[in-house]
Amino acid sequence: MRLDDLIGQTTAAAVLRNAILRDRVAHAYLFHGPDSVGKSTAASVFAQSLNCEGERPNGPGAACGECRSCTLIAKGSHPDVRLIAPSTGSDAAVIPIERIRHELVYDVDLRPVVGRHKIYLLDPADRTAPLAIHTILRVLEEPPPYVVVILVTSRPALLPPTILSRCQHVAFQLAGADAVEQHLLTLGVDPPAAASLARLSGGRIAWAIRAAQRPEVLSTRKALLDLCATVQLRAAPDALRLAEDIKMQALTLVRARRDVDAETDVEEAPEEPTHVAFGAGYRALRAELPECLDVMVSWYRDCLAASQGGTLLNPDYESVLRGRAGSRGSSQDVRAIEAILHARQAIQRNANLDLTLESLAVELLTGGGQPISQRQYRRGQRT
Ligand SMILES: [Zn+2]
Repeated sequence: MRLDDLIGQTTAAAVLRNAILRDRVAHAYLFHGPDSVGKSTAASVFAQSLNCEGERPNGPGAACGECRSCTLIAKGSHPDVRLIAPSTGSDAAVIPIERIRHELVYDVDLRPVVGRHKIYLLDPADRTAPLAIHTILRVLEEPPPYVVVILVTSRPALLPPTILSRCQHVAFQLAGADAVEQHLLTLGVDPPAAASLARLSGGRIAWAIRAAQRPEVLSTRKALLDLCATVQLRAAPDALRLAEDIKMQALTLVRARRDVDAETDVEEAPEEPTHVAFGAGYRALRAELPECLDVMVSWYRDCLAASQGGTLLNPDYESVLRGRAGSRGSSQDVRAIEAILHARQAIQRNANLDLTLESLAVELLTGGGQPISQRQYRRGQRT
């Protein structure tokens, strides 16, 4: 894959290609933009372009994709290209400071083993433990000439200004529906499915590809949107049930992923999350919940858009949304969005999953009458 093959990212691709062509590669990049638009793929392709050892018939800005270096980077096993991400095998939802120190800060002084550049991908950079991100400041201030650090994030506001100011910013954007559809067609997706997924993706190419590969992504999305659409019909005492319903949808995604992974290397079969508090099933749930909560945010965001005649993220629910517009105040929708985002963040920061979802359910059912307090969240933090 070449930088120019990134779907809908012409500007970002041009910036990165020109940096290589003009031999003006920065030591630190911030790849920022919405979720699921291809930032991580771009980081990997950029790393290939920097360290490619092949012929490069398309010019020095494009990786060959076939040489030893390109192959190793694609497999994630190049000795000079290090991906630092939250570990899926541990409970920690963040990258701990020890890893940042050992895999980046202490490592930069060792020269590359085989490549021209030593490349560190921090993805997502906003998921580093508090304070950990500050430790890379020394690297960004005096980087060895061969070092390139790429911070990937959809939430740059969570990174300290001292770090942001030392990076060259590369903006990624939502792709056009046409570009997404065309790409799905090249992957062999049925034309009607490709058109529908492209429309629903809202320009998030990575989401569209995931949804094409895992039908559960679409069915879960529908179940969650139906759930949001009927929240008003539920009474406050139904909060536990609502929390459980949200969890069940995340569980569907967990099972789907388990099926996809079944042929490769399943570490251990996730246990039923309803019966185990901190097992593998619990970790798997924590990994899938943000996607579920994002769908719910899209619903309330659409409620606001529908009442103002704006463009919808869920066009297949247009009649429900437009019919509902004006039936409740926009401040309720705003509070619902805030509550969901708050829960999302809490879950990523390892707060107690059940308690967080129950608090969120109460919030959604009471229409934001009782804001969830910091104390309630802290009580949910595992110590
Ligand atoms: Zn190559």
